[in-house]
Amino acid sequence: MTDPAVPSARGAGRLIGAALFSLACGLLVGYLGGWVPVPPRWDPLAALDVAETPNLLTPFKMRRARADPDQCLAALKSAGLRFSPVSDRAPVQGCGFTNAVRLESGHRVQLSSATVLSCRTALSFALWERHDLQAAARAELGQEVRRIEHLGSYACRNVNTGDGRGTGRRSRHATADALDVSGFTLANGRRIQLLRDAPQPWDDAQALQRDPVARFLHAAQAGACRRFDGTLGPGYNRVHRDHFHLETGGWPICR
Ligand SMILES: [Zn+2]
Repeated sequence: MTDPAVPSARGAGRLIGAALFSLACGLLVGYLGGWVPVPPRWDPLAALDVAETPNLLTPFKMRRARADPDQCLAALKSAGLRFSPVSDRAPVQGCGFTNAVRLESGHRVQLSSATVLSCRTALSFALWERHDLQAAARAELGQEVRRIEHLGSYACRNVNTGDGRGTGRRSRHATADALDVSGFTLANGRRIQLLRDAPQPWDDAQALQRDPVARFLHAAQAGACRRFDGTLGPGYNRVHRDHFHLETGGWPICR
Protein backbone atom coordinates (compact mmCIF):
# COMPACT_ATOMS: atom_id res chain seq x y z
CA MET A 1 0.00 0.00 0.00
CA THR A 2 1.28 3.47 -0.84
CA ASP A 3 1.91 5.83 2.06
CA PRO A 4 -0.12 8.99 1.30
CA ALA A 5 2.36 11.06 3.35
CA VAL A 6 5.24 10.38 0.93
CA PRO A 7 4.12 12.52 -2.06
CA SER A 8 3.31 15.51 0.12
CA ALA A 9 6.64 15.23 1.97
CA ARG A 10 8.38 15.08 -1.38
CA GLY A 11 6.43 18.12 -2.58
CA ALA A 12 7.32 20.08 0.58
CA GLY A 13 10.97 19.16 0.10
CA ARG A 14 10.88 20.45 -3.47
CA LEU A 15 9.21 23.65 -2.32
CA ILE A 16 11.89 24.27 0.36
CA GLY A 17 14.64 23.47 -2.16
CA ALA A 18 13.19 25.94 -4.66
CA ALA A 19 12.85 28.62 -1.97
CA LEU A 20 16.48 28.14 -0.85
CA PHE A 21 17.67 28.22 -4.45
CA SER A 22 15.75 31.46 -5.10
CA LEU A 23 17.15 32.97 -1.91
CA ALA A 24 20.71 32.00 -2.91
CA CYS A 25 20.19 33.48 -6.40
CA GLY A 26 18.76 36.66 -4.87
CA LEU A 27 21.72 37.00 -2.49
CA LEU A 28 24.18 36.38 -5.33
CA VAL A 29 22.53 39.01 -7.53
CA GLY A 30 22.40 41.40 -4.54
CA TYR A 31 26.09 40.75 -3.76
CA LEU A 32 27.18 41.27 -7.37
CA GLY A 33 25.00 44.38 -7.61
CA GLY A 34 26.41 45.75 -4.36
CA TRP A 35 23.00 45.85 -2.62
CA VAL A 36 23.77 43.08 -0.14
CA PRO A 37 26.67 44.14 2.10
CA VAL A 38 29.17 41.37 2.79
CA PRO A 39 31.89 41.87 5.44
CA PRO A 40 35.33 41.98 3.72
CA ARG A 41 36.32 38.84 5.61
CA TRP A 42 33.59 36.88 3.84
CA ASP A 43 33.79 38.73 0.54
CA PRO A 44 35.71 36.54 -1.93
CA LEU A 45 36.51 39.60 -4.04
CA ALA A 46 37.93 41.63 -1.12
CA ALA A 47 41.73 41.85 -0.85
CA LEU A 48 43.57 39.65 1.63
CA ASP A 49 43.83 41.27 5.05
CA VAL A 50 46.56 39.50 7.03
CA ALA A 51 45.17 40.81 10.33
CA GLU A 52 41.84 39.03 9.90
CA THR A 53 41.40 35.60 11.40
CA PRO A 54 41.92 33.15 8.51
CA ASN A 55 38.83 31.38 7.18
CA LEU A 56 37.81 29.25 4.20
CA LEU A 57 38.43 32.11 1.79
CA THR A 58 41.98 32.85 2.99
CA PRO A 59 43.78 30.37 0.67
CA PHE A 60 41.81 31.74 -2.28
CA LYS A 61 42.63 35.36 -1.37
CA MET A 62 46.25 34.33 -0.77
CA ARG A 63 46.54 32.88 -4.25
CA ARG A 64 45.18 36.09 -5.75
CA ALA A 65 47.51 38.30 -3.71
CA ARG A 66 50.49 36.14 -4.66
CA ALA A 67 49.71 36.47 -8.34
CA ASP A 68 49.49 40.27 -8.27
CA PRO A 69 52.74 42.04 -7.29
CA ASP A 70 51.03 45.27 -6.22
CA GLN A 71 48.35 43.51 -4.21
CA CYS A 72 51.00 41.37 -2.53
CA LEU A 73 53.08 44.37 -1.47
CA ALA A 74 49.95 46.21 -0.28
CA ALA A 75 48.95 43.20 1.86
CA LEU A 76 52.44 43.05 3.38
CA LYS A 77 52.37 46.75 4.16
CA SER A 78 48.99 46.64 5.85
CA ALA A 79 50.18 43.63 7.86
CA GLY A 80 52.65 45.84 9.71
CA LEU A 81 55.83 44.17 8.45
CA ARG A 82 58.97 46.23 8.07
CA PHE A 83 60.45 45.71 4.63
CA SER A 84 61.70 47.46 1.52
CA PRO A 85 61.20 46.24 -2.06
CA VAL A 86 64.34 45.04 -3.84
CA SER A 87 65.11 45.13 -7.55
CA ASP A 88 64.34 42.00 -9.54
CA ARG A 89 67.24 39.69 -10.28
CA ALA A 90 66.76 38.21 -13.74
CA PRO A 91 66.77 34.41 -13.61
CA VAL A 92 70.04 32.76 -14.61
CA GLN A 93 70.22 28.96 -14.50
CA GLY A 94 67.22 28.74 -12.19
CA CYS A 95 68.43 31.41 -9.75
CA GLY A 96 66.96 34.88 -9.30
CA PHE A 97 63.79 36.52 -8.07
CA THR A 98 61.00 38.94 -8.92
CA ASN A 99 58.85 41.04 -6.62
CA ALA A 100 61.03 40.32 -3.62
CA VAL A 101 61.45 42.35 -0.45
CA ARG A 102 64.15 42.85 2.10
CA LEU A 103 62.33 41.80 5.23
CA GLU A 104 63.50 43.25 8.55
CA SER A 105 60.71 42.39 10.93
CA GLY A 106 57.32 40.79 11.17
CA HIS A 107 54.31 42.19 12.98
CA ARG A 108 55.70 41.69 16.49
CA VAL A 109 59.02 39.95 15.82
CA GLN A 110 62.42 41.11 14.75
CA LEU A 111 64.41 38.93 12.37
CA SER A 112 67.95 38.07 13.48
CA SER A 113 69.04 39.79 10.27
CA ALA A 114 67.24 41.38 7.33
CA THR A 115 66.72 38.90 4.53
CA VAL A 116 65.56 38.84 0.90
CA LEU A 117 62.29 36.95 0.41
CA SER A 118 59.81 36.81 -2.44
CA CYS A 119 56.68 38.77 -1.62
CA ARG A 120 54.56 35.62 -1.67
CA THR A 121 56.80 33.91 0.88
CA ALA A 122 56.84 37.03 3.06
CA LEU A 123 53.03 36.96 2.91
CA SER A 124 52.95 33.38 4.18
CA PHE A 125 55.40 34.42 6.89
CA ALA A 126 53.10 37.30 7.91
CA LEU A 127 50.09 34.98 8.27
CA TRP A 128 52.11 32.35 10.11
CA GLU A 129 53.60 34.77 12.61
CA ARG A 130 50.32 36.45 13.43
CA HIS A 131 47.92 33.53 13.50
CA ASP A 132 50.03 30.50 14.35
CA LEU A 133 53.44 31.24 15.84
CA GLN A 134 52.36 33.84 18.41
CA ALA A 135 49.24 31.86 19.29
CA ALA A 136 51.36 28.73 19.88
CA ALA A 137 53.85 30.68 22.03
CA ARG A 138 51.08 32.24 24.13
CA ALA A 139 49.26 28.94 24.57
CA GLU A 140 52.27 26.78 25.45
CA LEU A 141 54.76 29.22 26.98
CA GLY A 142 52.65 32.17 28.14
CA GLN A 143 54.89 34.53 26.16
CA GLU A 144 55.03 35.97 22.69
CA VAL A 145 57.97 35.57 20.33
CA ARG A 146 60.00 38.74 19.89
CA ARG A 147 62.83 37.50 17.69
CA ILE A 148 63.18 34.87 15.02
CA GLU A 149 66.61 33.46 14.28
CA HIS A 150 67.12 32.27 10.75
CA LEU A 151 69.82 30.69 8.60
CA GLY A 152 68.98 32.66 5.47
CA SER A 153 66.57 32.76 2.58
CA TYR A 154 67.93 33.51 -0.91
CA ALA A 155 70.74 31.20 -2.01
CA CYS A 156 71.52 30.06 -5.54
CA ARG A 157 71.77 26.35 -4.84
CA ASN A 158 70.20 22.94 -5.37
CA VAL A 159 68.10 20.98 -2.91
CA ASN A 160 70.32 19.65 -0.14
CA THR A 161 69.53 15.99 0.54
CA GLY A 162 72.22 15.66 3.19
CA ASP A 163 73.95 12.70 1.55
CA GLY A 164 76.18 14.81 -0.66
CA ARG A 165 74.47 13.56 -3.82
CA GLY A 166 71.72 16.15 -4.13
CA THR A 167 68.77 15.92 -6.50
CA GLY A 168 70.05 18.20 -9.23
CA ARG A 169 66.92 20.25 -8.64
CA ARG A 170 67.05 23.91 -7.70
CA SER A 171 65.99 24.64 -4.12
CA ARG A 172 63.17 27.11 -3.50
CA HIS A 173 65.94 29.16 -1.84
CA ALA A 174 67.26 29.81 -5.36
CA THR A 175 64.20 31.97 -6.09
CA ALA A 176 63.96 33.56 -2.61
CA ASP A 177 60.88 31.44 -1.93
CA ALA A 178 62.21 29.79 1.22
CA LEU A 179 63.30 30.76 4.72
CA ASP A 180 65.18 28.58 7.22
CA VAL A 181 64.09 29.34 10.81
CA SER A 182 66.43 28.03 13.49
CA GLY A 183 65.15 29.52 16.72
CA PHE A 184 63.06 31.98 18.67
CA THR A 185 63.56 34.46 21.51
CA LEU A 186 60.55 35.05 23.75
CA ALA A 187 59.45 38.33 25.33
CA ASN A 188 61.08 37.29 28.64
CA GLY A 189 64.42 36.77 26.87
CA ARG A 190 64.29 32.97 26.81
CA ARG A 191 65.91 31.46 23.71
CA ILE A 192 64.59 28.38 22.01
CA GLN A 193 66.78 26.69 19.44
CA LEU A 194 65.65 23.79 17.31
CA LEU A 195 69.03 22.06 17.47
CA ARG A 196 69.07 22.11 21.27
CA ASP A 197 65.38 22.12 22.22
CA ALA A 198 63.51 20.09 19.60
CA PRO A 199 62.40 16.69 20.93
CA GLN A 200 64.45 13.76 19.75
CA PRO A 201 62.96 11.91 18.08
CA TRP A 202 60.74 14.71 16.86
CA ASP A 203 57.50 12.78 17.55
CA ASP A 204 58.55 11.62 21.04
CA ALA A 205 55.14 11.30 22.76
CA GLN A 206 56.60 11.62 26.27
CA ALA A 207 58.43 14.82 25.40
CA LEU A 208 55.24 16.24 23.92
CA GLN A 209 53.37 15.39 27.09
CA ARG A 210 55.79 16.88 29.58
CA ASP A 211 57.63 19.62 27.64
CA PRO A 212 55.78 22.82 26.62
CA VAL A 213 58.71 23.82 24.39
CA ALA A 214 58.28 20.60 22.40
CA ARG A 215 54.56 21.34 22.06
CA PHE A 216 55.31 24.92 21.01
CA LEU A 217 57.70 23.75 18.28
CA HIS A 218 55.19 21.20 17.02
CA ALA A 219 52.40 23.79 16.97
CA ALA A 220 54.68 26.28 15.21
CA GLN A 221 55.40 23.72 12.51
CA ALA A 222 51.74 22.68 12.18
CA GLY A 223 50.85 26.34 11.68
CA ALA A 224 53.58 26.75 9.08
CA CYS A 225 52.09 23.81 7.19
CA ARG A 226 48.84 25.79 6.94
CA ARG A 227 50.46 28.99 5.60
CA PHE A 228 53.36 27.77 3.46
CA ASP A 229 53.22 25.28 0.59
CA GLY A 230 56.13 23.28 1.96
CA THR A 231 57.39 22.87 5.52
CA LEU A 232 60.23 20.59 6.56
CA GLY A 233 61.60 20.22 10.07
CA PRO A 234 63.59 17.98 12.41
CA GLY A 235 61.14 15.13 11.79
CA TYR A 236 62.06 15.03 8.10
CA ASN A 237 65.78 14.28 8.03
CA ARG A 238 69.11 15.14 9.63
CA VAL A 239 69.64 18.15 7.36
CA HIS A 240 66.64 19.76 9.05
CA ARG A 241 67.44 18.83 12.64
CA ASP A 242 68.33 22.47 13.39
CA HIS A 243 65.71 24.41 11.43
CA PHE A 244 62.29 24.66 9.86
CA HIS A 245 62.49 25.05 6.09
CA LEU A 246 59.47 27.14 5.04
CA GLU A 247 58.78 27.54 1.33
CA THR A 248 56.15 28.61 -1.19
CA GLY A 249 55.59 27.55 -4.76
CA GLY A 250 56.76 23.95 -4.61
CA TRP A 251 54.90 20.69 -4.09
CA PRO A 252 52.76 20.60 -0.96
CA ILE A 253 54.72 18.91 1.80
CA CYS A 254 54.51 18.96 5.60
CA ARG A 255 57.07 16.77 7.34
ZN1 LIG B 1 65.75 25.70 3.53
